[in-house]
Amino acid sequence: MIGNTRITQAMKNKMAELENPFYLYDQETILGQVRRLHRDFPDFEFLYSIKTNPFLPVVKTILGEGLGLDAASLREVEIGVEYGLPKEKILYSAPGKTERDLRGAMDHAILIADSLHELELINKLAGEKGVKLGVGVRVNPDFTMDADHGAAGKFGIDEDQLFAYDFAKLPNIELIGIHVHARSQELHVEVLKKYYANMFALAQKCIDKLGMKMEFINMGGGIGVAYSTENDTDLDTAALGAESAAMLAELRQKLGGVRVIIETGRYAVCTAGYYVTRVVDVKESYGTKFVMVQSTLNGFIRPSLARLIAAYLPEGAVAKGNEPLFTKMDAFDFELLTDETASEKVNLVGNLCTGTDIMAAGITLPKAKVGDILAITKAGSYAYVLTPVQFSSQPAPGQFLLCADGSMIAE
Ligand SMILES: *Cc1c(COP(=O)(O)O)cnc(C)c1O
Repeated sequence: MIGNTRITQAMKNKMAELENPFYLYDQETILGQVRRLHRDFPDFEFLYSIKTNPFLPVVKTILGEGLGLDAASLREVEIGVEYGLPKEKILYSAPGKTERDLRGAMDHAILIADSLHELELINKLAGEKGVKLGVGVRVNPDFTMDADHGAAGKFGIDEDQLFAYDFAKLPNIELIGIHVHARSQELHVEVLKKYYANMFALAQKCIDKLGMKMEFINMGGGIGVAYSTENDTDLDTAALGAESAAMLAELRQKLGGVRVIIETGRYAVCTAGYYVTRVVDVKESYGTKFVMVQSTLNGFIRPSLARLIAAYLPEGAVAKGNEPLFTKMDAFDFELLTDETASEKVNLVGNLCTGTDIMAAGITLPKAKVGDILAITKAGSYAYVLTPVQFSSQPAPGQFLLCADGSMIAE
């Protein structure tokens, strides 16, 4: 339940004006999420993983709280620069950076090399400039969030390869930090606590084996969101913060003022976002009721993707999360803004010329009529950015930031 008339009234007003679907991001919710992280992890630094939602008013809201930027492309680095972030608050980590990417970013962000090839390329570029460049390295460690051994993957440099590498070959760079992002969407304190402990041990190992000057330990993301209203429980950030503070105090006795960084995308914005569409037709076919809304998979694809995944699952199987495209079957709530009290079982479908734009099947909704507004929750992260909005040349959804005073910022 949205249960907040400030938000639902803003939805109604904007739909009356636009007559087209849109995303609404609630600034108060974003601020609440970010401030909770700062409160619960006072001695940690946070970076906003902007790929989750690069809508500028959202980005400004978050950076305004003092977060730095986890940039995954040269353009994302540039957004940080345009906002006015200093170099040390933009960490550029992505696989497969090109020479052009590295050249464009090296003066504006801390580069995090994703491979031995990238380390060598950065060494070459730094040499051309005649500088000694401090760089981070993304490590593929000898652990994951779920196991005590490493796993093959496309990200980073295997721990063993890093320790075996002859860094004397790279005179123009100096390793100043490590980065690992094991995975997203974890809701258990114990899992993240163990992961952080592993990260601190990895940092010590890098110092011991490589003589690294450890300026930062970037532990990546992992802080999850309770997507499913019925089956998920919020991560206890206060408990994780307290456990982590104790570990950090111990680490600081050895490593002094090292920056310890956590990245977050979804936690800041997921629950602040709503996809708002409207009913354009209601019909019945062979005994099934269809409620048709405007722009489904071309407006917010993830509910339709979940249906598609479900269609290929063996009976009774549970689909594994595949972030950020698929989290779980019941990740999103559908709420019809209506005073209607009678309800019925419906299939919620879209107005596209494909049969795959099914947002939900067999759900119970209040009796819908043409013109009713339908809001979908948890649409703040990996929502607009993942959606093929050009499909069938429908108008793209708008995006708005709802401010505390009720105003809506469009850009
Ligand atoms: C996408 C990403 C994140 C953000 O993950 P969330 O689950 O949205 O918090 C953090 N770090 C890295 C390296 C990422 O690629």
